[in-house]
Amino acid sequence: MDKLYRVLLVEDELYDAELNIREIKKILPNSVFERVDSKNAFIKMIETYFPDIIISDYNMPSFDGLSALKIASEICPSTPFIVVTGSINEDTAVECMKAGATDYVLKDSLKRLGSSVLNALEQSKIKKERMDAFKTIRLNETKYRYMFHSNPQPMWIYDVETLAFLEVNEAALKHYGYTQEEFLSMNLKDILPKNEIERLICNVETSDYHYNQTDEWTHKKKSGELFSVEIVSYFIIFHQRNARHVLINDITERKKAEEKLLRERKLLRTLIDNLPATIYVKDSECRKIIANRADMEVIGAQTEEEVLGKTDMEIFSNDIGTRGYADDKRLIETGVPVLNQEEFFYDTNGIPHWLLTSKIPLTDENGKITGLVGIGHHITEQRKMQAELVEAKEKAEESDRLKSAFLANMSHEIRTPLNSIIGFSELLDDPDFDSEQKTEFIKHIVDNGNSLLMIISDIMDFSMLEAGQLKLRQQPISVKKIMNELFSEFSHKAKTKGIQLRFDDSQNDPDIMIVSDSYRIKQVFNNLIGNALKFTCEGFVEIGYKAKDEKVEFHVKDSGIGISPKFHQAIFERFRQVDTTKSRKYGGNGLGLAISKNLVQLLGGKIWLKSEPDKYSDFFFTIPI
Ligand code: ADP
Repeated sequence: MDKLYRVLLVEDELYDAELNIREIKKILPNSVFERVDSKNAFIKMIETYFPDIIISDYNMPSFDGLSALKIASEICPSTPFIVVTGSINEDTAVECMKAGATDYVLKDSLKRLGSSVLNALEQSKIKKERMDAFKTIRLNETKYRYMFHSNPQPMWIYDVETLAFLEVNEAALKHYGYTQEEFLSMNLKDILPKNEIERLICNVETSDYHYNQTDEWTHKKKSGELFSVEIVSYFIIFHQRNARHVLINDITERKKAEEKLLRERKLLRTLIDNLPATIYVKDSECRKIIANRADMEVIGAQTEEEVLGKTDMEIFSNDIGTRGYADDKRLIETGVPVLNQEEFFYDTNGIPHWLLTSKIPLTDENGKITGLVGIGHHITEQRKMQAELVEAKEKAEESDRLKSAFLANMSHEIRTPLNSIIGFSELLDDPDFDSEQKTEFIKHIVDNGNSLLMIISDIMDFSMLEAGQLKLRQQPISVKKIMNELFSEFSHKAKTKGIQLRFDDSQNDPDIMIVSDSYRIKQVFNNLIGNALKFTCEGFVEIGYKAKDEKVEFHVKDSGIGISPKFHQAIFERFRQVDTTKSRKYGGNGLGLAISKNLVQLLGGKIWLKSEPDKYSDFFFTIPI
């Protein structure tokens, strides 16, 4: 629908007013009219009727067109004003146009009024639009200036060619400590420390200044204080110059906080890496996201990267991986921590470890489980120590038991010959016995005295060996000679027991000369042959030797009761005997083999045996040539 135009007519003549209306309606049929002919009515109508156009007569009895024009240009300067007059001279026309009339129309040519009104309205519309646009621009500029200057974020504008500052806001002045005058007399280089200027020049030369930039710099305040900034800048045209609008964000505190965080992280990392316990963190999928050095060592990994992102199943291919993964999964699902669980496993290098492990769930701010943290204390050494303690305890108990048995033995072994000595000595004084009988008694006293001497020698030797006090007397010895001596020493004893003592000459070795202690070698033989005769009821006892690998290997074999394999090591320990029951058939103190072993070692050789129960025993020992 066409716009409705309000037309205000300033006309005293009703007829003339009608003519004007008729002409205007031809052009603007959709228009309404009001008519006034006095100053007051005119002012009131302008203020209440808001006319779109004013058509005024020039001469009126109580008012005139020029006065009306002046009032209108004060109250409503943008409303078009057309003067309609009967006659008008040139001066009047000029005066009207100067005063702001849009047009003037002579009553003679009233037909022109319509087009004049149309023209005036058109011009008024254009003028109004221009004024609106101008107002908008002014408003935007005010807004922009307000936003720039009152913005709490420091900002400035600089010329991209000269780097000179063109505009700066209050916040920037406050932050950098300059007055506006000082700031606007400087350029970008003035607020940079020396070491940043080169970078700035390079930056200006290489970067396209139409490009929006985000960057970090160090800036300098008027006081010389340096601070870190993050800048965002973008290209603008400012007062016909290529410029950049720069927004400054002081990130000194943020950087300090970041550095502090980094330092703390490093410290924490150093701490957890240097703790002997394994420490690791896993995500909700049970994948490792942190593994400390101890953890990597246990796994057998060289770098953390080797294990990060992997589950236990992927790290350990065996049951250990399945067990660890199952534990992790259960914890993530139920939130129930695993506390002080003893875990045994082999690392990827096959080395066994014992760990005392605790795993605790990790939760986010809503209490949702996001992963777990695990700590494992090494208890491998502890476990070893425990095992050693148990072993030591068992040994101590065994030793105690052996000592008791030894004491009981000893008491028996010492008392028996001693009782004989005392008994037969008393009989020597008895006149009822003749001299032949007394000679027999003396023989018993001497035999038992020798047994006693042997027992005491054994104990003395063993104590000296244990204390490392036994001295050797090394000299050149003929092996054959020793063997012959031993043979003749024991033949009688063997014969009385009905046992064949034989010399194994199968090797046919020539005489071998060695440098050693013949007394101690014989002592070893005495023990071995003594035992062989003691534990053999029938059959033979054989002695022999052969040269082997720079050593002489001696042996004493018998066809006696033999020794079960489980005692082959133990019988070389002190006080150890195969038969420990009170009803022992064979005497002895359990020291002979222990002494022999120590002596052979002292002489630089080794001692061992081969035996089968109820068949034979064959003791071997070597002496270096
Ligand atoms: P003992 O004084 O008891 O003979 P030894 O140290 O000489 O002490 O021997 C320890 C044990 O070894 C003996 O008690 C015996 O059980 C066993 N033994 C040693 N030699 C023989 C052997 N030739 N035949 C069978 N058992 C033997």
